[in-house]
Amino acid sequence: MLANFVQATYIVAGLLFIFALAGLSRFETSKRGNAFGVLGMFLAVVATIIAVWAPESWHGPDWATRMPSFIGDAGLASAGLLLAAMLIGAVIGTIKAVRVEMTGMPQLIAQLHSFVGLAAVLIGFNVFIEIDGALRAGHPQTDLAFHLAEVWIGVFIGAVTFTGSIVAWGKLAEKIPSKPLTLPGRNLLNLATVIGIIACGVWFQNSWSWLALIVLTLLSLFLGFHLVAAIGGADMPVVISMLNSYSGFAAAFSGFALGMNVLIITGALVGASGAILSYIMCKAMNRSFISVILGGFGTSTSSAAAAEQGEIQEVKADELASWLSDAQSVMITPGYGMAVAQAQYPVAELTKRLTEAGVKVRFAIHPVAGRLPGHMNVLLAEARVPYDIVFEMDEVNDEFDETDIVLVIGANDTVNPTAMQPGTPISGMPVLHVWEAKKVVVFKRSMKPGYAGVENPLFFHDNTYMLFGDAKASVDSINSALPAADPRLAITS
Ligand code: NDP
Repeated sequence: MLANFVQATYIVAGLLFIFALAGLSRFETSKRGNAFGVLGMFLAVVATIIAVWAPESWHGPDWATRMPSFIGDAGLASAGLLLAAMLIGAVIGTIKAVRVEMTGMPQLIAQLHSFVGLAAVLIGFNVFIEIDGALRAGHPQTDLAFHLAEVWIGVFIGAVTFTGSIVAWGKLAEKIPSKPLTLPGRNLLNLATVIGIIACGVWFQNSWSWLALIVLTLLSLFLGFHLVAAIGGADMPVVISMLNSYSGFAAAFSGFALGMNVLIITGALVGASGAILSYIMCKAMNRSFISVILGGFGTSTSSAAAAEQGEIQEVKADELASWLSDAQSVMITPGYGMAVAQAQYPVAELTKRLTEAGVKVRFAIHPVAGRLPGHMNVLLAEARVPYDIVFEMDEVNDEFDETDIVLVIGANDTVNPTAMQPGTPISGMPVLHVWEAKKVVVFKRSMKPGYAGVENPLFFHDNTYMLFGDAKASVDSINSALPAADPRLAITS
């Protein structure tokens, strides 16, 4: 009875995770998708507590004879310990989630991936302790051999994810330099490490020895560190999504090792969706997937861009307000600075006022604007900007020449024309062709370059005007200079 309940709950949870992914793929359904995910996770957690409390519900009534000591002395005490650990985790998780700024989300995600990686390593070790114990108790080797492969592959992926995520966190949180680490013979070193790991896997499979597993773990930890350390800041979005994928596969292998279907399903979903997202992001940034995995991007210098300088033109908020009132069409290209300034609310207000005045306002979103995929879309949705005026880069990139004014609000790398020349860390990345509009106004606080550290010649173009200051304060000033919005025409999402 309990066994059926646990397995049925796992299937329902798995289905809810699939619905969650489907829902999350569109803004309109994303809240529902999230709700499915939360419900699925709740059911999976409840079923897992029951499974730990009553192991026969997990592995069947004959589990004790089939898998002696394989899942330890499960029972009420284990379920209690699990619950306590989960409560502690939930408290820490809630505090972190409440405190985190939207701009700090990638760092938090990287941290969480590192936990998944570490958990996979610990589960692998734990399962091997059980296997070792079963063997010493006289359990036939043939029954257990298959589990060894699950152990070392899970430990390998988990250890790579663990150190890789820590390095990604360090780079994103600016705890370590975001410059790529370029050791001599980098690719050869990676190749030799992978061969070493596979050799240790074979050694482990044949020797059943702890030494083989420990050497394999150390090599995998090094591989994760070196792979991500060799990737420059500009490619971090792809790395985050790649680590997401690795953490999914690590969880799936832990699921195999523990004989837990729901973990296999969830891990496979996360692994596959992370891999697809990495591929889509590579395409958006014009990178080769294989090269990103091998590391070493962002190594080129920005000399091509540094050479270009000239005079800049400034504009003040009230003058810009009058330009905007006279414009027919306005395109807004937000970036990381909009998130830092929390300018999305005044931007939504500006959109409302201009729309009311008959100006055609649209948003052009670069796939890696901000610090995580979908960052800008989330902020705009939060400020209730209607979805139907928010466009992906490819949908509107050839419409800038028909636009009167482009407002570049806190974006830099994603509107940098240098990306179209060779020799810089962002070379090859498609960018928003904002310079094709009649006028471009860049909102930022200084002349500092963007995330990739590449100077931006856009600032010196004849049709570009700089509006210096915090983006929120600047947009607020424009709003004050414009006629107030008619509340009867308020935009609702
Ligand atoms: P950038 O990081 O290139 O530039 C942001 C700009 O915002 C800076 O030039 C900064 O200039 C300005 N800014 C910062 N704070 C404020 C403020 N309070 N008010 C006004 N302006 C401000 O942003 P983009 O969005 O164009 O590009 C994103 C970059 O981040 C890309 O290189 C991308 O590869 C990378 N990245 C993206 C991730 C993703 O998944 N989307 C993840 C990790 C990295 P100033 O200091 O002068 O104000």
